Amino acid sequence: MIVAEQKPIGDIAASLGSFKNIVIASCDTCVTVCLAGGEKEALEIQGLLTLCDRESGAERAYTVVNIKRQCDDEFFEGENDVIARADAVLSLACGAGVQFMAEKYRSLPILPALNTKFMGASRGLGYWTEMCQGCGNCILERTGGICPVSRCSKSIFNGPCGGSQNGKCEVSPDIDCGWQLIYDRLRAIGQLDRLSGIIETRDWSTSRDGGPRSLALPDARVGKEDERVV
Ligand code: SF4
Ligand code: SF4
Repeated sequence: MIVAEQKPIGDIAASLGSFKNIVIASCDTCVTVCLAGGEKEALEIQGLLTLCDRESGAERAYTVVNIKRQCDDEFFEGENDVIARADAVLSLACGAGVQFMAEKYRSLPILPALNTKFMGASRGLGYWTEMCQGCGNCILERTGGICPVSRCSKSIFNGPCGGSQNGKCEVSPDIDCGWQLIYDRLRAIGQLDRLSGIIETRDWSTSRDGGPRSLALPDARVGKEDERVV
């Protein structure tokens, strides 16, 4: 899932500038799970912004809309009219959702209420850690299911480096050494022989180094991209 956290309410309030009629749009998938951008958080932000306005003397009206996924056109049906009447939208989606809305509503400012952090997994109540950087060429089968790109601070492919101490990364004693985790995992599943080979230098063009990426499944594509623009 995409993990994100809310910006400080003062920063959000400042970003509203002189806009008067604000739609607050929740995104009811990943950012709901990480307690940052769901329906409940949208109502909380509405309340906090109302308090900020009371203190500052700003006069604004807020309308909350709930979008199942802000990165998918089909979930905006029924909300287009209320959104189109706003001066600006405060989006509680990840950065992808904010940008998707900005492309869809081309004449409308779309303001981010969240800081998008990483792709990760839940480790307990209110706690998530980074697991994947979307490198585009997964090698988890060679590393015991533990990602060296995300979980080694240097993204080393043949670790550990000389800084690994007592299972911890030299970057911080609070961070497990990713390559210690890989070693422990390979030992536990009887695949330590995997470490005898060198993981070859890779072509990073499948990652961000190759520029903005896209994925097209020809058999699944229907309609034209521009049909989503309002
Ligand atoms: S190897 Fe790449 S795709 Fe696989 S988990 Fe790591 S970053 Fe993600
Ligand atoms: S100590 Fe471990 S996790 Fe940290 S940079 Fe070195 S190999 Fe990577």
